[in-house]
Amino acid sequence: MAMSTHNTETEIARLSVVEKTERKRLRILLVDSEESSLQVARQALQPLPVTKLKYAATADAASALVAAERFDLVVVDASVTDGFSLLREIKDNHRWVATLVVSGDQSPSFMRQVVKCRIDGLLFRPLTEEDFVEQVVLLASAVATRRKQQQKRVLAIGAHPDDVEIGCGGAIAKHHAAGDLLHILTLSRGAAGGDVNVRTVEARNAASLLGAELHLGKLVDTHITDGRETVELIEAVVQQMQPTHVYTHCKEDTHQDHRAVHAATLVAARGVPNVYCYQSPSSTVDFKPQRFVDITDFIGAKLQAIDAYCSQTERMAALESDNIVSTARYWGRFAGHILAEPLLVVRQSDNEEGRAFDKAGLGRAPLRKQA
Ligand SMILES: [Zn+2]
Repeated sequence: MAMSTHNTETEIARLSVVEKTERKRLRILLVDSEESSLQVARQALQPLPVTKLKYAATADAASALVAAERFDLVVVDASVTDGFSLLREIKDNHRWVATLVVSGDQSPSFMRQVVKCRIDGLLFRPLTEEDFVEQVVLLASAVATRRKQQQKRVLAIGAHPDDVEIGCGGAIAKHHAAGDLLHILTLSRGAAGGDVNVRTVEARNAASLLGAELHLGKLVDTHITDGRETVELIEAVVQQMQPTHVYTHCKEDTHQDHRAVHAATLVAARGVPNVYCYQSPSSTVDFKPQRFVDITDFIGAKLQAIDAYCSQTERMAALESDNIVSTARYWGRFAGHILAEPLLVVRQSDNEEGRAFDKAGLGRAPLRKQA
């Protein structure tokens, strides 16, 4: 009860974010060899809150646009050359984007081809403006709901540059492969371990290799406390990105900064449904994990991210590849994986697929209810 004021604020902030997502404007890409169709689509979509309607004349141009920008829906005219491979590529690499095909061809062979592309919607010509708008609205809202239910927002917190990569670089790479949103918060720039400018560049490179956005704090290395300053730094990022999953240091650690970050995270992330603690090279034998993330397919990505810290890999045996791999191999045996990252669970309300548990624990509930 003592924290009711603060909790209320947090809940209001979270609710307003949910509202924003629901009212989110649409970002649509139209792929058609005839540019005149852009005008037609723009006209048809006028009553909708489309913030972005972009156009590509070829599959290659569309592919580059989808890789560079965020879209909710890609509408592809079936006559575009390589349109089928574009549709498959979008489903393989951008799981949150819906695809809609417009075609005049209703032959069985066309249907077979288009079904293989796992499209979300199909419209046949001739089509009316109403049909088109109805499909766009339907698919855009379906994709928004799917993203909200399934996309995790992950925040990994470390005291120093390289802590996150060593502790949970594999899990982060796995989140990235699943299309989750990733942020890394590093609270100090690691002055005690080398030149801060070098370490900052290394941290940025490592984060970009993992597909994560980096937040760098300026707390003083080896002097980090679990007090207000640290809590507020973490809270600022938590409020900004509303994480569903937080990874942080464990308290079973001989480094005072790591223990302080652990304690501060538990306060700042008190409203986050899933909180895990990772192992550091300075963790003690009291670190007893309950969760083992299979990183067999992500060890390469983890090693690459750690390699970005050239200034450290030369001076710390803990960062050597064989050390990282053999540690993962050791923990793998506890869960039947070849390579695993161990995590201590502070709180977990998701099942393995990331869906919230329902009352029967079957994981069918769409989203955690906002109380
Ligand atoms: Zn550290």
